[in-house]
Amino acid sequence: MTRTVYVNGDYLPEDEAKVSIFDRSFLMADGVYEVTSVLGGKLIDFDGHLARLERSLGELDMQKPEAFDDLLDIHRELVRRNELVDGMIYLQVSRGSAGDRDFVFPDPEEVKPTLVLFTQSKPGLADSPAAKTGIKVISIEDIRWGRRDIKTVQLLYPSMGKMMAKKAGCDDAWMVEDGFVTEGTSNNAYIVKGSKIITRQLSNDILHGITRAAVLRFAREAQMEVEERSFTIDEAKEADEGFVTSASAFVLPVVEIDGVALNGGSPGPVAARLREIYLDESLKSAI
Ligand code: PMP
Repeated sequence: MTRTVYVNGDYLPEDEAKVSIFDRSFLMADGVYEVTSVLGGKLIDFDGHLARLERSLGELDMQKPEAFDDLLDIHRELVRRNELVDGMIYLQVSRGSAGDRDFVFPDPEEVKPTLVLFTQSKPGLADSPAAKTGIKVISIEDIRWGRRDIKTVQLLYPSMGKMMAKKAGCDDAWMVEDGFVTEGTSNNAYIVKGSKIITRQLSNDILHGITRAAVLRFAREAQMEVEERSFTIDEAKEADEGFVTSASAFVLPVVEIDGVALNGGSPGPVAARLREIYLDESLKSAI
């Protein structure tokens, strides 16, 4: 089945979809994105992703695409047309194409944003083997720009970080700034000490994860103790457990950091419980 994608108002077969070579996301990484998971044909945490998209656009003075208010319908239509059961919907908004290359932002009256959405099918997304085995991470220096709270398509360094991890025989990298862990290359990072869940406080230094917000809310509702503060990579290596959260991975246990095993190298009980609660609760509220 050929995938149907969405580009600026049209649903098209993927090989007929076109974006200008002058598009500013292509030339300047001048674009923002969101990834929403789909489980059983339903969208997980859609309202959170839409709210963060609106914020990212606002922080970059980028206008909302004309179809902003129709985004839920567009997501649902892509699920329907692609018969998507489990997977993700990727959405990208760029500042558009001024028909040439120029550092200066184009006049928003003349150049409209580019809106692209496509589906990625991942059968059995919620039963990934990594949830049972846990993942191994390495630590790398965080050399990204200072507005990591904006979800831009500027993903070269996170991509390089994944490659560094792969080369080291691991699954992902935790980025470290001034000795403190910021986040994973595509997820938020947590440690557990005793029964306490510790994760970095929100600021411009990290992405404000939609899954992070939901997981912390569910943890507090379940009377689990949560501390939002920075932790060092050394503290992480001595923690009882580690885990990461993201829209497409949900909650994944971390069982090794720089070769140091956590919880004897097996997923810990807190991460396992949070994954279960997150999946149960978000399926209940999926739309
Ligand atoms: N941090 C970074 C750097 C990310 O790329 C992501 C995934 N987009 C996250 C955190 C997790 O955010 P979310 O839970 O909204 O997917």
